Amino acid sequence: MKKLVTLVALAAVAVCSQAADFPSKPVSIVVPFSAGGPTDRVARDLAEALRKPLGGVSIVVDNVAGAGSSIGSAKVARATPDGYTLLLNHIGMATMPGLVRNLPFKVDSDFEYLGMVNEVPMTLVTKPSMPANNYKELTAWLAQNKGKVNLGNAGVGSASHLCGLLFQSALQSDMTTVPYKGAAPAMTDLIGGQIDLMCDQTTNTSGQIEAKKVKAFAVASSKRLTTPALKDLPTLQELGLKDFEVTIWHGLYAPKGTPPDVLAKLNAALKVALKDPDFIKKQEGLGAVVVNDKRVEPAEHKKYVLAEIAKWSPIIKAAGVYAD
Ligand code: ASP
Repeated sequence: MKKLVTLVALAAVAVCSQAADFPSKPVSIVVPFSAGGPTDRVARDLAEALRKPLGGVSIVVDNVAGAGSSIGSAKVARATPDGYTLLLNHIGMATMPGLVRNLPFKVDSDFEYLGMVNEVPMTLVTKPSMPANNYKELTAWLAQNKGKVNLGNAGVGSASHLCGLLFQSALQSDMTTVPYKGAAPAMTDLIGGQIDLMCDQTTNTSGQIEAKKVKAFAVASSKRLTTPALKDLPTLQELGLKDFEVTIWHGLYAPKGTPPDVLAKLNAALKVALKDPDFIKKQEGLGAVVVNDKRVEPAEHKKYVLAEIAKWSPIIKAAGVYAD
């Protein structure tokens, strides 16, 4: 018995000193989509901003792409809960439970919530050779080409998948959806004209719109945006798609069971990182908005994700867009 008590005490000391030393080696942020895409972009900027408040350790981004974010998310859910493996994911945390029947993790119980990061609007973009020059002409082109239109996305459960499905449902039009491991390879094919259109995050599209590598037709937010590259785009609501709004957000997660002291250090570092003027400037330039401190509270973050699951599940169900 005495031996057992000693062992338990030693284990407790080990966990405490682990927390006191944290972080003493590189921290990895898993991005569940391909490198060079919108979530990767946010993660790399965030990694840079987190470095100083985490005592200067390296923060590495690990792209574990595939299955619309579920492979990378599952990897973090099963990782050692020591604070060295984190997940940056987006609205997929709230839409996957509605979109995918057998998720390999539980959004509400397999993670510690570290705080929200930003909100990112979405844009409707097409290949540069699209003959249409405005939304009316685009819908006419889509109608004329019924059965031949290819709509790209970043995989089942991704934001582009959700937005594209809702767009098809609003137009009552069936397009062939082409899933990629992330919006980065989808964007490459859109620029090359291998796919016709995509609903994608401004963190991936604003530079391409500005460089005229793709054509932009609308934003999926409820209000017009102010970012220079995007400010002239009408909202889909203005164009007649009543209530059409898809704005995505990112949050940071750790595996369930990460020691509370480590979580507190990560949360404090996240709050500092989100106030970094360089990070804010980069995000604003891409049309994204960094959240305020209140939304970086773990309880608020979790409450928001659960509310988003409750919001999106019936919409996804009503649009008949359930996937296996
Ligand atoms: N966030 C995804 C990516 O980074 C894109 C998406 O969800 O549509 O590729």
